[in-house]
Amino acid sequence: GNAIEIEGLTKTYAGQKGEAPKQALRGVDLSIPAGSVFGLLGPNGAGKSTLINILAGLVRKTDGRVTIWGFDQDVNPRQSRAAIGVMPQELNLDPFFAPRAALEVQAGLYGVPKTERRSDEILRMVGLEDKANAYARTLSGGMRRRLLLGKALVHNPQVLVLDEPTAGVDIELRQMLWENVRRLNRERGMTIILTTHYLEEAEEMCDEIAIINHGEVVARDSTANLLGAL
Ligand code: ADP
Ligand code: ADP
Repeated sequence: GNAIEIEGLTKTYAGQKGEAPKQALRGVDLSIPAGSVFGLLGPNGAGKSTLINILAGLVRKTDGRVTIWGFDQDVNPRQSRAAIGVMPQELNLDPFFAPRAALEVQAGLYGVPKTERRSDEILRMVGLEDKANAYARTLSGGMRRRLLLGKALVHNPQVLVLDEPTAGVDIELRQMLWENVRRLNRERGMTIILTTHYLEEAEEMCDEIAIINHGEVVARDSTANLLGAL
């Protein structure tokens, strides 16, 4: 089955005063198979983040239909949100919460009972066990990214979305992120969706790829078919 089904999705951002409205998505149809690692590729401004933010429930769509793990976003907003975890691109973290506390707060937001929380396991997985109680403002950019990955996992979502996970990160962290993502996919069957503009990352990680340009899906195929010819 499909982890994600998107039909006729459009998004028009209201323009600032005097500006024309901005059409970021122009009728996207896309289905993403459960258990796959799926890449969204496209140039800056293509609409990738908008698409991801709509999936995450962070941006309201203008029109169309989005189904996550069988739950229609409009009909079952709570269940559809629970099925997805998002590692955002921006390194926005509350400066007052150490990693363990940040994971606990996030788990609380998702209503994960205390007995079912796995903060220590997640800290180990992302390599932050030594920084569990460090002030967030003392964390390097790489550590923040690891924490953001951890936060996306607290409610054990079926679908994990990564927005430009390795933009501007060093080789070591890139390898760690790739390794973690592969393990989540292989060992837990988690469906992974990532945006990237590194072709190498898409080739390395993704089973299938959709290319987005000007708010439309212009190509969609297996990674081998799409990138093999390059
Ligand atoms: P909407 O209410 O249409 O969903 P948002 O609340 O997401 O729009 O955005 C509010 C305003 O922030 C926009 O009208 C826009 O001017 C500005 N903005 C935020 N991010 C961007 C961006 N990436 N490009 C252009 N404008 C942006
Ligand atoms: P990508 O992630 O592929 O770079 P985005 O989804 O961020 O693309 O942006 C798609 C288009 O929508 C761009 O033209 C961008 O400027 C515009 N945009 C994104 N967010 C907003 C916003 N909040 N308000 C207005 N325009 C936006």
